Amino acid sequence: MREPVTAYLGLGANLGDPATALEQAVQLLDAHPGITVTARSSYYRTAPIDSSGPDYTNAVVAVDTTLTAPALLLCLQGIEAAAGRERPYRNAPRTLDLDILLYGDAQVSSAALDIPHPRMWQRAFVLLPLAEIAPHHVSAAQLRTTMAQDITRMP
Ligand code: AMP
Repeated sequence: MREPVTAYLGLGANLGDPATALEQAVQLLDAHPGITVTARSSYYRTAPIDSSGPDYTNAVVAVDTTLTAPALLLCLQGIEAAAGRERPYRNAPRTLDLDILLYGDAQVSSAALDIPHPRMWQRAFVLLPLAEIAPHHVSAAQLRTTMAQDITRMP
């Protein structure tokens, strides 16, 4: 049995019923025998960045997982598919998007997987929820660089 690794996952959706899609994703993650969800941020509403369509709902969860990073990615892609995720074109609006932000202290650079997620440091919709549940992973200087982005914490 592998030792569990703490990973942080980004969740986002801007089609259908985003809040329900995120709730269901968290439930499906936690139902996986190799994944335990240990924390969930608030939901944030954000204008699309590198995408289009309605505003996004975003959140970050912490998980403890015995899955390898590639196996975790496969699991996330299965949950995206179950939510009806389609990829008609790059960065299209989406019913559910799940990303591995951090996986322990792993540095991964392969054709299928980059960890830490390469664009996470430029995105308020990742950094604000991540700072909420894992403040040690986000510096004030990093938060300041995304301050101009349009983002609202949802009640
Ligand atoms: P997207 O269309 O935004 O869901 O992007 C998914 C693609 O990004 C997949 O082909 C993944 O293999 C790739 N990818 C690379 N790094 C990551 C990561 N850290 N988390 C999720 N997907 C990743």
